[in-house]
Order: sequence, then structure tokens, then C-alpha cells
Amino acid sequence: MEMPPPILDCAKVLAYAAVDESVVHVRDNPVYVDGKPLGAVPNLAICKYPIEDEHLLFFCRKEWEVLGCTGCPSLEAAKDRAEREYRGIAARWQSYHHEDEAAVDRQCLEPFCSFCGKSFFELERLIWGKDGAVICDGCVRTLAAALNGSS
Ligand SMILES: [Zn+2]
Repeated sequence: MEMPPPILDCAKVLAYAAVDESVVHVRDNPVYVDGKPLGAVPNLAICKYPIEDEHLLFFCRKEWEVLGCTGCPSLEAAKDRAEREYRGIAARWQSYHHEDEAAVDRQCLEPFCSFCGKSFFELERLIWGKDGAVICDGCVRTLAAALNGSS
């Protein structure tokens, strides 16, 4: 099995597992994607956004493209949820070792507003400028108000 990248869909990978021949896919508890049950997938990953408690169980293709996702309150709950659909997967989980956890967390939160420093996670809109400059709608409003106030 290929290892997943450290980040899938802006979430840090905590654990990953391959659905091999020791794992039995049961159909009574599927994940729905666009109203249709997602069939058996080759790879699973448990991921987390840095500023949220929720853990995400990702259902992935072989190349770790995310096909479906379900939220769980903890890592253990995500593993339990996976086991209910993929019997035997419990023995296949491997923890993801990140060389620099803080750097990965920061990368998950990118981009940041260049003015207030908030992550796009906390913001509604970001407006892009030249050379990677980013400003959020809140800062635009604050600046507009300041300009109006001074005229
Ligand atoms: Zn801002």
C-alpha cells in the first residue's frame, strides 16, 4: 500500500489502513455520497482539521483521492465506525507519523488573511491579491469603514 500524503482535503492524516483480503466489506452500514451508497473502497484514513474536535473517516481510492467522508467524535469512534462497515480493518490501522506536527497543522489552516492572520477555516471569504497576498472580507469591511470615516 502506498502511504497517504500527510494532508488529505485540508485535514491532517492520523491513521490509515488498506482494505486487503483479510477485511470483509459489509453493506448494512454504508456511507452515502450524493444519495447513493458508496461501495467498497481500497483505502481508509482517519483525519482531523486542526481547529475542530471532530475526526473524519475518509473513504479513499488507491491513490488516496477522497470519495466519501463521515464525521466521528474521536479517533476510537472513527475506528469503530470503520470496523462496522469493514470487518477486520481494526487490525490494519497504521498511525501516521508526522515529522513536524505543528508545521502540518499550520499547512492545514492555510491560507491565512495577510492582515488579521485568521485561517480560511474561520473566514467566510478570502480575496486574493498579487504574489499570494490574501485579505478576508472582514478586513475589507474594516478598511472600507476606516476610509469612509476619514473622508
Ligand atoms: Zn482578515
